[in-house]
Amino acid sequence: MKEQLYTIPVNDAFGKECECPICAMYDELERNAVQFTMGPSYMEDDIRAMTDKMGFCEKHMRQVAAVENKLGQALILHTHMVKINKDIREITSGTKKSGFFKKQDNSQLINYIKELNESCFICNRIDETFKRYIRTIHYLWEKDEVFKSKYRTSKGFCTKHYGMLIEQASSNLSGANLDVFIEDTNKVYIENMERVEGDLSWFIDKFDYRHKDEPWKNSKDALPRAMNKLNSISAEEQE
Ligand SMILES: [Zn+2]
Ligand SMILES: [Zn+2]
Repeated sequence: MKEQLYTIPVNDAFGKECECPICAMYDELERNAVQFTMGPSYMEDDIRAMTDKMGFCEKHMRQVAAVENKLGQALILHTHMVKINKDIREITSGTKKSGFFKKQDNSQLINYIKELNESCFICNRIDETFKRYIRTIHYLWEKDEVFKSKYRTSKGFCTKHYGMLIEQASSNLSGANLDVFIEDTNKVYIENMERVEGDLSWFIDKFDYRHKDEPWKNSKDALPRAMNKLNSISAEEQE
């Protein structure tokens, strides 16, 4: 079966005026996943079984709460809590404890809590598609000259997504193409990081009274753009 590629959303994101098109793609997937979670889907047993098991990370719990569907949120959290309480009672009551050790063995409990804290229904839902978005970038860069020049003249990426582009490149590209892709990506990342660094530097200089009558140049929004580069928080998310 041919793997599905997402050329349309990838091309759309690279056409956007932003400091990281991959952040823009992630945000879109995130918005859809939150809408899905708080839509009619939470009344479906198989979906609820997943939210019961995984729960939400802190960021996505806040986004779910922001939808303001208090009944829906309460229903989801209630059955999630019922499951946790049942599981923890079972683990701590020793029904699963080996009688061989005299010392209490808490490893099962610790692993359960760790797994619970690291799982999130929304992160999980985004993950698969997001990986394929990155694969699509590699694919388009290799096959589509128009995209390749769009990529090279883009405003670069946040550090997290720059890392993903580099890390996953060797699974999707090979030989000379891989080398050139890495070169292109390093260049477009660092040049644009330096551009924003310069904007931020002028933003700081503007606080000096000697510069107060000089133009802002591109520095007025340097701070939110630096936050996008450094922390993957897109301008839209900061509004
Ligand atoms: Zn990003
Ligand atoms: Zn999450």
